[in-house]
Amino acid sequence: MKALILDGDGRSHIGEVPDPVAGEGEVLVAMRCSGICGSDLVYYHMSSDQLDRMGNRIPCHEPSGVVVDIGTGVTSLQPGDRVSVYHYFSCGKCRECRRGQMQWCAQTRGLGGPIQGSAADLMVVPERNAMKLPDSLSFVGGALIACGAGTSFSAMNKLQPSTRDTLLVLGLGPVGLCGVAMGKALGARVVAVGRRQPRLQLASLFGADVVIDIAQTENVPKAIREACKAPTLVYETSSAPQARQWAVDTCARGGKICTVAGRGEPGWPAGPIVGKEITLQGSFVLPVWMVFDLIKFLVEKDLKLDRMVTHRFPIDRADEALALFETKECGKVVIEWE
Ligand SMILES: [Zn+2]
Ligand SMILES: [Zn+2]
Repeated sequence: MKALILDGDGRSHIGEVPDPVAGEGEVLVAMRCSGICGSDLVYYHMSSDQLDRMGNRIPCHEPSGVVVDIGTGVTSLQPGDRVSVYHYFSCGKCRECRRGQMQWCAQTRGLGGPIQGSAADLMVVPERNAMKLPDSLSFVGGALIACGAGTSFSAMNKLQPSTRDTLLVLGLGPVGLCGVAMGKALGARVVAVGRRQPRLQLASLFGADVVIDIAQTENVPKAIREACKAPTLVYETSSAPQARQWAVDTCARGGKICTVAGRGEPGWPAGPIVGKEITLQGSFVLPVWMVFDLIKFLVEKDLKLDRMVTHRFPIDRADEALALFETKECGKVVIEWE
């Protein structure tokens, strides 16, 4: 099969690798759509030595496709089923796995990290990771469920936006944009803050009531206050220390901040969190049980998240997809198969 292969230090190429085979309890999925996500860029920039130590060079973790073969013992799926793939593979037996928190399993491994990712024609997947898609959801929707939309849905479950709230969304990558669309669908007034033109336009398309362009705004907290006085809820997706400052400075007393972004940057400003009794909560992708709720939500609310996709590449040009996504001058970028 064809696959995107990382060479290390921001280089990659398309290569041929052996087709994987479904073993006991596994299914073979032919990819139809694989999203590019911000965390793929971390692996993209690892050195060749680091990639060797990790043991996998095929990136990406937003897979959707069609089951083409099943291994022995598989009972819930058959060839032809359309599926999204839950992107943490785990032991399936420990306490966390048995309560549906596979992402917390001590043995959990992420797609496109230690195990083969979805930037390839085929993937072998444990039966419990393949989530059936209804006909009304596209393969792009299926890909977004695996990370971008899933991450925002889990955060919205924590923030619980309603018509009483103003939701401030900081950072308008695909995860932030999903937050805008979901916040609106749940009834909140949404103020969106970002800096890239294509993404600011997408925030408007997904219903943001006010869109603030950082590049054109001298005083961002002032612009936020003018837009909504003080947001009761803040969704932080950027990991920029400045965005954290804006979040705590503008958040309403008794408000709530949920963050999904952070790779070891300096901490959150404690003063306003204490003084305004802000609840600060982290959120990490989504638990597998929540995928069922997310699929139902996307079907019922019909958010048309496919509109987020600005660029589509075939697997033969998947290396260009990573390079483009890194510029951030785009919406969602996907690899697509016919
Ligand atoms: Zn991701
Ligand atoms: Zn486990």
